[in-house]
Amino acid sequence: PPVTRFAPSPTGALHIGGARTALFNWLYARGHGGTFLLRIEDTDIARSNPENTQVILDGLRWLGLDWDGEPVSQATRADRHAEVAHQMLAAGSAFKCFSTPEEIESFREKARGNKESTLFRSPWRDVPEAAHPDAPYAVRLKAPRDGSTTLHDTVQGDVTWSNDQLDDMILLRSDGTPVYMLAVVVDDHDMGVTHVIRGDDHLSNAFRQNMIYDAMGWAKPVLAHIPLIFGADGKKLSKRHGATAAADYQKMGFPAAGMRNYLARLGWSHGDDEFFTDDQAKAWFDLDGIGKSPARFDLKKLEHVSGQHIAASDDAALLEELEAYLAVTGAVPLTERQRDGLLRAMPHLKERAKTFPDIIEKAHFILIDGPIVPDEKSAAQLDAVAQQYFTELTPHLQNVTWDRTALEEAIAAFATAHDTKLGKLAGPLRAALAGRSVSPSVFDMMLVLGRDETLSRLRAFSA
Ligand code: GLU
Repeated sequence: PPVTRFAPSPTGALHIGGARTALFNWLYARGHGGTFLLRIEDTDIARSNPENTQVILDGLRWLGLDWDGEPVSQATRADRHAEVAHQMLAAGSAFKCFSTPEEIESFREKARGNKESTLFRSPWRDVPEAAHPDAPYAVRLKAPRDGSTTLHDTVQGDVTWSNDQLDDMILLRSDGTPVYMLAVVVDDHDMGVTHVIRGDDHLSNAFRQNMIYDAMGWAKPVLAHIPLIFGADGKKLSKRHGATAAADYQKMGFPAAGMRNYLARLGWSHGDDEFFTDDQAKAWFDLDGIGKSPARFDLKKLEHVSGQHIAASDDAALLEELEAYLAVTGAVPLTERQRDGLLRAMPHLKERAKTFPDIIEKAHFILIDGPIVPDEKSAAQLDAVAQQYFTELTPHLQNVTWDRTALEEAIAAFATAHDTKLGKLAGPLRAALAGRSVSPSVFDMMLVLGRDETLSRLRAFSA
């Protein structure tokens, strides 16, 4: 079974592109009975920090991309990375280089002047141990000098590089610290990674990493370099296009299932299927379905698919996710009454809603906690006549059966007795129950709010 991994560098937030990479790795592993691992590439001490790692883990959790085992911290494995460099040294596939930074720079300057390749060719590559000075050295890999290297990539096809573009890359710096490129290969090997699915900005790295696999004689993973995500203008997705962090979409109130569905479609397709469940995505996802050209991020499509997921969601599960969303926005937890009301109203609330804020807007009459503060239009409805009506109506509602038919009958009878029309009562009732002129129907609100809350809101505006 496959082993995939997501290997973010904690130098910033979890971006949409990273979230999509994680999702593809997760789908591939989950759909093939495999393992999905997480590795935090925190070797760049100056740019990495634990807060970013936390943000990335939170983003993955929100998206429901559960990983197997504990996240691996790359920085803690530096000794193992150095050990592998020394194994290569012992095997003769790497060498000690005593060139100083000044010597390397002057080599480059000369090469630039002569319009030659600036790839550094160390004079130490073939110098025997006996002739080595007692000085600090870097460990460099002996790169092939002739011919070419062809890598097969599941997405990009066969990609060929001329070997004269490969330098004797540094594995260990002269202070003994391993380079990132070595760390990635050693970690992927040690973690048993069988499939490397990542952004195509790493394709050139794959050639350098390939040399390390060759030097160690290790089995190579299947490669899938996926095209980056573009904005609507066909340029690489960036801040200019609006929100790029996964957390931004969480704060906008997109349900995680809708986000997963939409991200899965960014660069991968299964026929014309736009809407699908996680189970379908896991069953369908394959590397063959990843396209070669960059996908464009389209907020309208995200909203559309998100609305479909809200509509298809189980009401209780949706409420739970809504509560998690409210917590993210810093709202106070729901009361028992609000929760009950939301659950009862959910079949209506979720109609045509694309995000949680859409649901919340519609649920305003349920979420009001404390006295209703009517807006200007509603305040005008709550005049002396209306107040008198409420005073007389509330005792009737005290005893009526709390269902739609009985309520409709009771209020119709009340209107007849007062020589008025149901339509004339609806405005004031709406104003007292919602404080707004736009709301669900009066009877829907009464049923959702229940007898006690309805009566208490009417009494607040009684004469
Ligand atoms: N840490 C790299 C990044 O965040 C990913 C490296 C890899 O997937 O091999 O872009």
